[in-house]
Formats: sequence, C-alpha cells, structure tokens
Amino acid sequence: MVKHNINIAFEEYQTFEELNESDKALCLEAEKALSGSHSPYSNFKVGAALRLKSGRIVYGSNQENAAYPSGLCAERVALFTWSANFADDPVEAMAVTAHTSKFKIEKPITPCGSCLQVLAEFEKKQLMPIRTLLYCKEGVTWATNGADSFLPFMFFEDRLATVPV
Ligand SMILES: [Zn+2]
Repeated sequence: MVKHNINIAFEEYQTFEELNESDKALCLEAEKALSGSHSPYSNFKVGAALRLKSGRIVYGSNQENAAYPSGLCAERVALFTWSANFADDPVEAMAVTAHTSKFKIEKPITPCGSCLQVLAEFEKKQLMPIRTLLYCKEGVTWATNGADSFLPFMFFEDRLATVPV
C-alpha cells in the first residue's frame, strides 16, 4: 500500500483591494449578476460572471422553482449560457458571489459538486483552465486557477495530457 497526499492550491485575498484590476472588475460583474437571481424560497442570491477571451461578460444567477429540483445554480446558468451561445470564445475566468438579507456572509461561497463537474467538463472542452474567483464582499476572497484545485481526480489522465497549467 502506498499512501499519497494531494496538495491543492488556492489564493486568499484579505481585502478586495489586494485583487488585481481584472479580478476586481469580474467580482463586481458577479455582484451585478445577483439582480437576476430568482430565489423567493431561500432568499439567498448567488451571482456568477464569466469573462470570455473577447472581453464579453456572461452572467448567471441562481434560479429557484416551487418544484425544488427544477432550479439551477448560478454557476451552471452562466456556464450553460456560455456553451449554448459563445462556445467559440473561451472562458478565461469566472467570479461567484452571494448575498442574503437574512445573515452576514463572512466566507466565500464555494460551487456545489454538480457545478464543479460542469466547470471541469468545459475546461476540457476549451482546453484551458478557468480562473475561478469566490468573492465574499465582507470576508476573504479565494481564487483558483481551475477545477483541478476543487476536483483533483477529475479527468485525471486527460487533464495531465491536454490542459496546460
Ligand atoms: Zn451548483
């Protein structure tokens, strides 16, 4: 038996001002995306913004439904919108943020497993990792340079061969 350990890498920014200009701009776009949230049941808004290579911004927000499983997360709304409409324009980065009037959010909101699966699939599709910013307005912001940091075993062999780091 051989025991292995995997280290994952992410950046932590204590303040918004520490982020570089393009990351700041994308985090603010994710805040804008909050306004499209349909979340009357949880009152928990999530906004996602993708920055494409051309500079275009694609927005997504969580969409709830009275029949709960019919809803969808902000990240997948944005990523599916991109794939359906702009797939020839690669996604360079995604920012995600959240807001609720019920309590103060002090930690970054991390994507669910299904959204990570979709993120990994689209990185593979475009042969390029997607920088992912988890922006918390009243706390730290985390950044990774792709789905590998969240899902180190995702498409492991393929990723080694085709996705530049
Ligand atoms: Zn999700």
